[in-house]
Amino acid sequence: MKTYRTLLEHVTSTTGPARTVLDPATGGLIGSAPQQGVAELEAAIERAVAAQPAWAALSHEERGVVLCRVADAIDASSEALAELLSREQGKPLNGPNARVEVGACSAWLRATAAMSLPVEVVIDDGESYAELHYRPIGLIGVISPWNFPMMIAIGQIAPALRMGNAVVAKPSEYTTLSGLALVSVMNEVLPAGVLGVVAGAGDVGAALSTHPAFGKIMFTGSTGTGRRIIEASAGNITRLTLELGGNDAGIVLPDVDPQAIAHDLFWGAFINTGQTCAALKRLYVHADVYDAVCDALVAVAAATPMGIGLDEANVLGPLQNRMQWNVVDRLVEAAKVGGGRVLVGGDPDRGAVGNFYPTTLVADIDPQNPLVIEEQFGPALPIVRYTDLDEAIALANGLDVGLGASVWSADTSAARSVAARIQAGTVWINSHGGVHPMIPFGGVKGSGYGLACGVAGLKSVALPQVINS
Ligand code: NDP
Repeated sequence: MKTYRTLLEHVTSTTGPARTVLDPATGGLIGSAPQQGVAELEAAIERAVAAQPAWAALSHEERGVVLCRVADAIDASSEALAELLSREQGKPLNGPNARVEVGACSAWLRATAAMSLPVEVVIDDGESYAELHYRPIGLIGVISPWNFPMMIAIGQIAPALRMGNAVVAKPSEYTTLSGLALVSVMNEVLPAGVLGVVAGAGDVGAALSTHPAFGKIMFTGSTGTGRRIIEASAGNITRLTLELGGNDAGIVLPDVDPQAIAHDLFWGAFINTGQTCAALKRLYVHADVYDAVCDALVAVAAATPMGIGLDEANVLGPLQNRMQWNVVDRLVEAAKVGGGRVLVGGDPDRGAVGNFYPTTLVADIDPQNPLVIEEQFGPALPIVRYTDLDEAIALANGLDVGLGASVWSADTSAARSVAARIQAGTVWINSHGGVHPMIPFGGVKGSGYGLACGVAGLKSVALPQVINS
């Protein structure tokens, strides 16, 4: 069990190149993150390649037992992990934030350990017999972003380990300490070398992407970086799972009770202060309920406190970095210039300490305004009025991304009909953004390809092999 101090000491750099890590809420010093490079990547690869055969030789059940013990280790240090995550990423301890993210890490490991992927008999008709097996790939690279630095990493690491692979992880340079801390707690239990981590910037991710030792790369991040990884890995024909950016639409049908859906609508958009791949990022509301939905959302926004993450009163936090703050600010300013009506927020204190951007709702916005068609990845939701459902569906499908979407209605079968017409990897009905270790998750169009989670996620980190006898 680690305390915040012992965990921080463990991951803080004392020698070699380092980067100062500042708290995005206060600007205060958190620590110093190591800045590693290609030499450390090569060393981690060497250790992982050496460790993988013994790990793969264990049975699925034996690896499952180890993963459950890793989950126990995370639980034992959960408060320390949550505090570091809160300080470095900015998300509050309380609410659906840092403690929930750390809890999800152990839950993900246990669920992944419990899944089974038996040999599939694909034909057995007396004349032909064939089985489909799933073998370890070998070494898997995991490149993760800064918004959920622990949960996204574990969602890729857990299935990879479960299927007998070794892993080298590359956390985002914005949340290096959180990535290192998670791996360090996991390595209290895992055999040496099976899970490595390299704390570097984009150049380490680029080197990983071109390295022939990796049989697969699991990447979560922006569409632009995803494209670069495709190009970099093409020479090695490396398998890829790409979970890229999204701009999820929500369509509210005229039969909803605005008061009843407002809380879930709000959190679908503002979870992790909007810095969520599958958050609701543009909302299309039928004219019959438009004003009532806007009013109900304003009421929830007013009752949802934003502030320093270590203060238990807060459930929304700052943006993790200034780059993202600038994106949100630019898009909200574009919405104002374009005639959008700011219902709440939109007036950041530009001189304040910390990357806080106020919870912002913009009504009566042009459907082609930049705040609607670009991914804001922050706490600003555009609300578009519609009267024709076909037009709303066309707008929802009109972008080149398709990670998630949602339909809101009192009539579930009507909502399911709309869902079937939406181009997105997941369509939620009367909720938005929930992920579960047993439910496959992935995008379409520019949001990437390949599935994480569930049995489909296990298959994606294995090599299919047919035994035809
Ligand atoms: P980036 O694509 O900038 O970075 C993601 C990771 O890739 C980081 O670890 C980054 O390192 C690394 N990286 C940077 N350049 C390269 C490269 N050339 N080759 C390989 N790796 C590289 O995304 P963000 O971290 O900014 O995350 C935000 C974006 O991710 C948003 O667009 C969001 O929608 C998307 N996202 C998607 C999710 C999904 O499941 N679909 C989930 C979460 C986020 P470093 O940070 O050190 O530069």
